Amino acid sequence: MSAPLLTVSGLKKHFPVKGGLLRRVTGWVYALNGVSFTLKEGDTLGLVGESGCGKSTLGRTLMRLYEPTEGSIVFQGRDIAKLSNKELMPYRREMAMVFQDPYASLNPRMTVSDVVSAPMRAHGVGSAQDRRDRVAELLEVVGLRAQAATRYPHEFSGGQRQRVGIARALVLQPKLVIADEPVSALDVSIRAQVVNLMMRLKERFRLTYVFIAHDLSIVEYISTHVAVMYLGHVMEKASSKDLYANPRHPYTQALISANPVPDPARRREKQVLKGEIPSPMAPPAGCVFNTRCPLAEERCRAEVPVLRDVSKGGDEHLVACHLVKE
Ligand code: SF4
Repeated sequence: MSAPLLTVSGLKKHFPVKGGLLRRVTGWVYALNGVSFTLKEGDTLGLVGESGCGKSTLGRTLMRLYEPTEGSIVFQGRDIAKLSNKELMPYRREMAMVFQDPYASLNPRMTVSDVVSAPMRAHGVGSAQDRRDRVAELLEVVGLRAQAATRYPHEFSGGQRQRVGIARALVLQPKLVIADEPVSALDVSIRAQVVNLMMRLKERFRLTYVFIAHDLSIVEYISTHVAVMYLGHVMEKASSKDLYANPRHPYTQALISANPVPDPARRREKQVLKGEIPSPMAPPAGCVFNTRCPLAEERCRAEVPVLRDVSKGGDEHLVACHLVKE
């Protein structure tokens, strides 16, 4: 079996909340609370969960756009969690991010060529001509005409701008692409085109994806594996096929039951979750899902369930719930 491309262990990210005249720390947002998973080359890990579950924070912390509070991020055999910016540079070339809002992530005063080639300039890669050639090549790869290079982002539709964002992510030939809600801001009719493009690019360039989304159908379509997050914890992780066919965690079951499915044979009885997701500044003790879980019992309010393998052989199926049997 090939070594994992990425191994994340006990990753935490806590943001200080400051208040008062002296801007003292008055509390903490516990955004990530000990996230662990592995990702093999060629996998696509879908990260799902309601907003505030920590999935975007996880994506940005993996990229070191946020400094981890604790834990390790072993990428290509090296723990990058504590590297200095200089030490991090060669690893940054191998990781790229596609953002949710293609317009917000593109500087409106830069041409498409400037936008796509910016990572090459930042890393001192190639001559001006090399950069022009690479931009022309990539625009074609993502389905845009070479003439797009001299135009500005606002001249394009949302779907085209996201193609520009994808070209930029690929410009340094990364191994890992972290896509944070890459199609959520797009018209429904355009989403499938962009997702299909990402799938083709994955094959062509042998990419590995972390795909963050709240649309469970898109995540099922694109992902080989899925991790379900709640209040900064991974609640369940399994192959996409297994997780959708046989969700074991009560939270995953509720999420999947609420997801519209066209095929009546696959519809489940809808489970409505009570209440709101608690504040990440004051997460519940024990299992963080206990305030909304229909099965919660005394033990759930006292003891944090560990993420454990409940599969009966075959691919691992990890679940963090006291009541799920192997
Ligand atoms: Fe529900 Fe308890 Fe399982 Fe948490 S540990 S999901 S509260 S049954």
